[in-house]
Formats: sequence, structure tokens, C-alpha cells
Amino acid sequence: MADLTPVIVRVAVPSPLRRLFDYLVPAEMVTDAPSSALQPGCRVRVTFGRREVTGLIIECADTSTFALEKLKPVSQLIDVEPLLPVSLFRLFIWASRYYQHPIGDALFSTLPTLLRKGALPPEQGQKCWQLSTFGKGLGPDSLKQAPKQRAVIDKLLVEDVVSDEQLVALFSRAVLKPLQEKLLIESSNQCIPEIALDKLLRQDNLTLYPSQKQALEAIDHHHFNCSLLDGVTGSGKTEIYLQSIEKTLRYERQALVLIPEISLTPQTEKRFRDRFHVPIVTLHSGLTDKQRLNAWMQARSGQAKIILGTRSAIFTPLKAPGLIILDEEHDQSYKQQEGFRYSARDLAVIRAQQENIPIILGSATPSLESLNNCHAGRYQHLVLSTRAGNAEQPDWQVIDLKTERSNAGIASTTLTAIAQTLKNNHQVLVFLNRRGFAPAMLCHQCGWTAECQHCDSRLTVHRARGRLICHHCDFQQRVPQQCPSCRSRELIAAGEGTERSEAFLQQHFPDTIVLRVDRDSTRKKGAMQEVFNTADSGESCILVGTQMLAKGHHFENVTLVAVLDADSGLFSPDFRSHERMGQLLTQVAGRSGRGVAKGRVIVQTHQPDHPLLALLISQGYGHFARQLLPQRELSQLPPFRHMSVIRAESHRPDEAEAFLRLARKIAEKLQAPTPVLSYLGPLPALMEKRAGRFRYVLQIDADQRPVLQALLSAVAVELENHKDSRRVRWSIDVDPQEL
Ligand code: ADP
Ligand code: ZN
Ligand code: ZN
Repeated sequence: MADLTPVIVRVAVPSPLRRLFDYLVPAEMVTDAPSSALQPGCRVRVTFGRREVTGLIIECADTSTFALEKLKPVSQLIDVEPLLPVSLFRLFIWASRYYQHPIGDALFSTLPTLLRKGALPPEQGQKCWQLSTFGKGLGPDSLKQAPKQRAVIDKLLVEDVVSDEQLVALFSRAVLKPLQEKLLIESSNQCIPEIALDKLLRQDNLTLYPSQKQALEAIDHHHFNCSLLDGVTGSGKTEIYLQSIEKTLRYERQALVLIPEISLTPQTEKRFRDRFHVPIVTLHSGLTDKQRLNAWMQARSGQAKIILGTRSAIFTPLKAPGLIILDEEHDQSYKQQEGFRYSARDLAVIRAQQENIPIILGSATPSLESLNNCHAGRYQHLVLSTRAGNAEQPDWQVIDLKTERSNAGIASTTLTAIAQTLKNNHQVLVFLNRRGFAPAMLCHQCGWTAECQHCDSRLTVHRARGRLICHHCDFQQRVPQQCPSCRSRELIAAGEGTERSEAFLQQHFPDTIVLRVDRDSTRKKGAMQEVFNTADSGESCILVGTQMLAKGHHFENVTLVAVLDADSGLFSPDFRSHERMGQLLTQVAGRSGRGVAKGRVIVQTHQPDHPLLALLISQGYGHFARQLLPQRELSQLPPFRHMSVIRAESHRPDEAEAFLRLARKIAEKLQAPTPVLSYLGPLPALMEKRAGRFRYVLQIDADQRPVLQALLSAVAVELENHKDSRRVRWSIDVDPQEL
């Protein structure tokens, strides 16, 4: 006999609306489906407006605030059991509340595309290789002419079954192909047998130095605890990660490792693969939909033991979570800057807490937020203050651009130092955080400057491409021959970008390899690999680049780092600019002298006496950061006060501002301004016009998070229901990184 209680599911759908939608599960569907298909975390097909969409059950209920006859029926139950483990599901709910983002969009913007479209989770097991009968019978001397192919055979002789992913990572597809064609190896889809615990390591652990040992031992591997591993570049943080992962693997748990960027740091991935014998999956933007889903499923099923990924990998389901590591925790890429504006670092801590597992945040230049959490006793502060092995910290030298002559932005002292370094057969890294040839084009006669029609910004000269490009909206035009204002032909490319520095250095050192590393030069596939190959070869060369060069690379033979312009960070209106400058300079400097030879860092500036620069150079980042913290406290800025902004943008200049005035009115009615809750704005964004839209922000700050959260939630709902909200693009940014 059918149960008469109606089954209602509250479903999150991919929509910008901050609410769930009730659907009725038809009685026959309830009877036919296993009870596990009607649980939170299962997907359903439902009609939404005029579309059929995939939704996710958030709650099951037997009542609705709507009349039962008005509820639409669920068209299909997709999953037979929850797609997301309960704990991950809880994380999404937490994140959508905390970041004031619609749960449906939060869920569906982070799920693998194929699952979003309603695909069934693929069967478990992964593509693996093994020797064919023919391959097993191969004599020890065969394939001598093809040593790589031979190595594949030897590997399979020892290990029987190896995953496709691992084999391709170790060799390459090109090596496997002929072996398959010769019918020596064959592939199949299967579950890889679990690695025996005594065979976890492919390579021995290094013997830890006392400071490393102390740090590792301070981490409780069985309960939640958050450690800030604060170690200068090259101090052996990665070795601690590896040994902490080993402990986790030993009690049969998985480790989730987040890093800012995978393609830029293949060395990191290699170190993990070289050390462990276990299945490792990497999640990054370069994967196809199918690869992403496979990796996701392997993490969910527990087959993958180590999951290495960038920001969004924080939402990877794990069968048996045991450890979270987040490297370069200060890195801005952990904060998503559009749509679902979450911070993967902050969510990682929440996730670890919910799963009751340890988390390690690592950095040579920790954020003020994390340092403050250490001071407050929420995180334990593990410090490694010296470089591992013999490598010493580099020497700094400041060059005053006010008094020294420079050419293409390179002072003569710097040029001499570069020449000297090359003569010693070492490598040089020249750092300039501006890509393109020159940041401005102007007319010598009338002062006209090339500006973007869509943004409040100048166009950057890209000489090789013969174009002026806007770095904010990507508007492009040909480099003009004449001034459009006075027709003069005397147009000047003013200022320096990486392309100009590269050209100048190549001209000055014609026999030296000069390689540029920025977003333009690395667009070409394999370009970054060429840089790594050259750097690894140890041959003397000059690498010129933007902050892409500062990211965690380990270049043994770089002994000189030249920072061409340290000033931009000193005078930016953003309250985080000093912190960022300190981090960037320290990170770039950390690329120098990582091998046996001592390194040197040259900093060019117009402000050689700036007290913060002097402090950073003489005392190091730790002291520098300790000075910044009280200033933040004094000015009531994060991490001492909680900040949020409501952003709005519109094609019409007045609309965005008017909308935020409305937002402020609504908010003030709910919560009048007091010393513990304050409003600022609406104000124009730092770049008011961008990509044709006028942008405004309303800042709301509070002493207490719950007060701010409650207010934002209430304001969001009112704004969403207000007719004017459809005229502008608006969003809420909690703990904003950019203003
Ligand atoms: P970080 O991650 O802090 O930049 P790494 O872990 O990359 O530092 O270590 C820097 C260098 O020192 C690496 O070449 C690493 O192999 C070496 N190293 C780290 N720890 C040890 C150790 N305990 N014994 C010997 N060498 C070590
Ligand atoms: Zn002119
Ligand atoms: Zn533009």
C-alpha cells in the first residue's frame, strides 16, 4: 500500500536566486527508487521555468509553504546515492551562507561539467597498462635500441599494473604508442590494487633537520589543528609536506594538496610523484571534462590517495580525508574574484575543522590574516628560519633611480651586476611586473595619450604584435602612425614593460639567451617548458618576467635577481599594497641563490629611504609583517575588523551608484550605523569605468562576523526582490581582496 505522506524535496538549481525550490516526488517514483536516491546530495531532473535542469536535493520534507497542487513534480531521480559526501555537502552550505552566494550556483559552478549536465558518475576503475603475454615473454636484451620503451617494460615487469596517468607522467604517450602497436602492452579499465603500506615510498625521506623535525612533530595527525608553516624560501617546507602526507597515507587516509598554479610549477608535482608510490590525481584548468570527472571520481572513491589541485580543488569529494595542505597560503589566486567569491584558504580551514583533520598552511611570506590567527592562538606558528642545506639568504642592494642613470629602466649598476653574473656562468632573473613593451603611448607634440575607450586606463604598447592593448578589457587596436589629435608623427612609447627590457637586454648581451616569461610569452604551448629546460640546464642566461617568475620555482643557478621597479607597491591606495609588496619582493628575492652559490638581490627604486622598504630589506618579511599588523589594528582594517563590499556596475554611470544608495538605505533601516557596524560609500571603484561599465562599491564593516552575516543575508534578499536589481550587475564580496 502506498504511503500517503507526500515526499517533497527542496532543490538547489543553477540559478542566481538565493533560494531553494520545492518539488513533489511522484508516489510511484518514491516506491520505485531506493531510499538512498532521495537523500540530500542526490541529483534530480526538474522543470525550472521553461527549461529542464539538473538540480541537487538539499532537504527532504513532508510539508511545503506552497499548496501541494501547485508544486511541480520531479521528472527524474538521477543518482541512486548522494553524489556528494555529507561533509562536503555541509561545506557548500556553509560557504554559500558565509559568502552570501546562491547555493545552486555555488554547487553547480564548482561541480565537474559532465555532472552538472546530469551525466551518471562513470564506472569506477581507471585506465591501466600491463604487459601482454607477448610482452611478458620479452627477453632481457630486446628493445636495447629504444631505452625508453625498455624502461616501460621494466616498470611493468616490476609493478604488473600501472595507471595510464602515472605511466604517461613518467614517460609519455609517444613512448607507449609503439609498444601498444607491437602488442607488447595492453590497457584495461580496472581498480588498481591498494599499495601495501611498506611500499608507499618510491624514494626515501630526507633526514629532517631539527627545526623541520620539531615542526612535523608539532602537527597532530589525528585531529583538527591548523598550523602555519612559516619558512623562508628553500627552508624545507615541501619536505615537511611530503612526510606529513606519508603519515596520513600510513593510516589509510587521503591528502588534499592545494597550490596556486600547477602549470607554472611542474617541479612541485614531480616531487610528489617521485616520492610516493600511490595514485595521485591533479586537478587544474588544463583538463578535459572527462579527465576532470575521472579525477574527481577517483578522489571520491578513495582510489586516489593524493589530490593535487588549484583553488577549486577545495571542493573535491574525499572518501577518507586525512590531511589538507595549502601551499603559498598568502597567494591571491586562492580567492575567486568573480561569481562565487570564496577563499579556498579560508574554506580549507573550515573543511579541516568539519572533517576533524589537520591542515597545514605554508608560506615564506604569510598573510597578515594567518599571522594574526597565530597571535590569537587559533593556529600554531611553526617557523623554519634558515634555508635547508648550505644555501644562504641572498644579499640585498638598493639602487636609487633618482640619482642613477638608467636605460630601458635598467640602472648602470644593475647592468654591471648582470654582466658580472653572466661572466661567472650564473643565471639572472630580471623582474618587472608589467607586461608589454611600454605602459603608455603619448604624443611628443601635443601630449595626447592612447586611452582605452571602455576603461579608465591607458593602452599598453605591444611592439612585437604592433598593437595597443587594454590590460583590463582586452580592447586592441593597431599602433597608430600619427597622433590622432595633432597628426604629429612623434609618438613615444613611454615607460618600461617586460618586452622592452627583454629587447634591451638581448641587444646588450647578444650572445646570451634572454627568455621572457609573462602571460604573453607563455601563451604558446611548451613555452614554459623551454624556460624550465634552459634554467635547469644551468647554462648562463637571463630570464625577464612578471610575477609569474616569482612563483615557487627552484632555479639552482640563479644568483642575481634584479627588481626593476619596487615603487608601485609603495603608493597604491589599496590597504593591502604594502603587505603585497613585501610578499612579492621576498618571493622574487627567494629565487636567488638557492643552489650552492650565494645570491644577490638588486632593488631599483625612487624611494630608497622609504622606511618600509628599509625594514623589509634589513629585517626580513617577519619583522616587516609584525610592523604592519598594529597599523591595521589602528586603522580598524582586516584582520581586525571584518569587511564586506556590495559591488554594482552598469552601462549607465548613475545606475550603479543609485542602486548602492538604495542598498545602503535598506541596510541602515535594518541596522543603523554604530561604532561596531559602519558603512562607507557608495564610492566609485578604484577603476571606475571598466569594460564599458561604471563600477561602484558600498563597504560594510563590522566588529563581529555574525552581525555582519545576518545583515548581509537580509539585505541580499531585499535587493534580490527589488525591481532595480535587474538593471545593474551586483554582487556581494565577503572578505574582499580587491577594492
Ligand atoms: P621550501 O619548500 O621551503 O622552498 P624545499 O622543501 O623545496 O623548501 O627545500 C629546499 C631544498 O632543500 C630542496 O632541494 C630540498 O631537497 C632540500 N632539503 C629540504 N629538507 C632537507 C633535508 N632535511 N635534508 C637535505 N636536504 C633537504
Ligand atoms: Zn599630438
Ligand atoms: Zn579597456
